[in-house]
Amino acid sequence: MQSSAPRHPQLAPSERILMGPGPSTVPARILQAMASPTLGHLDPEYLAIMDETRELLRAVFRTRNELTLAVSGTGSAGMEACVVNLVEPGDEVVVCVNGVFGARMKDVMERAGATVHAIEIPWGESFTEIQIADALERHPKTKVLGIVHAETSTGAHTPLEGVAKLVHDTGALLLVDAVTSLGGMDVRIDDWGVDACYSGTQKCLSCPPGLSPVTFSPRALEAMDARKTKVQSWYLDMTMLRNYWGGNRVYHHTAPINMTYALREALCLVVEEGLDARVARHRENHERLRAGLEKLGLRYIPEKSLTTLNAVQAPEGVNEAEGRKWLLENYDLEIGAGLGPFAGKAWRIGLMGHASTRRNVDLVLAALGELLA
Ligand SMILES: *Cc1c(COP(=O)(O)O)cnc(C)c1O
Repeated sequence: MQSSAPRHPQLAPSERILMGPGPSTVPARILQAMASPTLGHLDPEYLAIMDETRELLRAVFRTRNELTLAVSGTGSAGMEACVVNLVEPGDEVVVCVNGVFGARMKDVMERAGATVHAIEIPWGESFTEIQIADALERHPKTKVLGIVHAETSTGAHTPLEGVAKLVHDTGALLLVDAVTSLGGMDVRIDDWGVDACYSGTQKCLSCPPGLSPVTFSPRALEAMDARKTKVQSWYLDMTMLRNYWGGNRVYHHTAPINMTYALREALCLVVEEGLDARVARHRENHERLRAGLEKLGLRYIPEKSLTTLNAVQAPEGVNEAEGRKWLLENYDLEIGAGLGPFAGKAWRIGLMGHASTRRNVDLVLAALGELLA
């Protein structure tokens, strides 16, 4: 006998090759980990998985920071968590804006009640230590300086090695957006003296979107302890989240259990490959892609390019949106569009995590060659 219940065919999304600004292609091992049985969020087995995930996060952030965990939500939730925990209404902050994500950080800071001094440079450029030192000199009461390490909207890389010293000399804290660098480029929280940093799972960690790794230095903890007001966001309040991720394991909100499985697996893959080897792989594939794109006559937008994201000007006379559509339909290949001043004028080709392979580089070059011919 036939059932009269409506039938819903099983989902069958295409297996795309994700070479845009994120998400990146997810390895099967991570998807399989997500399909493991769901545990309770206070089950001792799950608590042990959380502990292991924190240890792996410390390894990947290259830090010994106690307060290192994964915020529920995507990279923007991590951004907001860092901001609302460090900033109180009326605090002065400096935000470095050279693209979409610097501008987003400025907006989040303003919403948190900070008095924001934005230093803006043209999109595509990277900040210099002179510009940062100058801003700190002009605003001596700065509590936090926020900067994007890897500006995904333009592909620009701002090196951070010397920035913390400038920031700490004035008594301020350094907040870093490492969403598109963690797991793909060198990120050294302790060596560089970063006080707070957030990332995302779906970029160079090649995990589905849904969690945001964050880490806070002892100096950042002191600033949190010295707060006079409650953190504006109940959901992202680290004083409570700390008690669930460590301490006495007090329920705060139900953890995204299966996403934690995925993140743990993704971090295992990073550690198994080795951070240095992984950074080198991203660099080699970027160099191969760069040589090929330039041979096709495509020009890079940023002077200092990321190795994880390649932003190039779309060629004259080519409809960039049509080009992307053609790649998706003919090669199951996703690349990204330009944003802001580059909308309609650029392509952004990601080489993130599992998607940063020589095979993918050669595929996108061959496909673009065919498209342009
Ligand atoms: C993607 C990205 C974000 C935001 O992350 P979501 O996961 O989209 O919320 C923030 N900063 C940078 C540099 C990014 O690339």
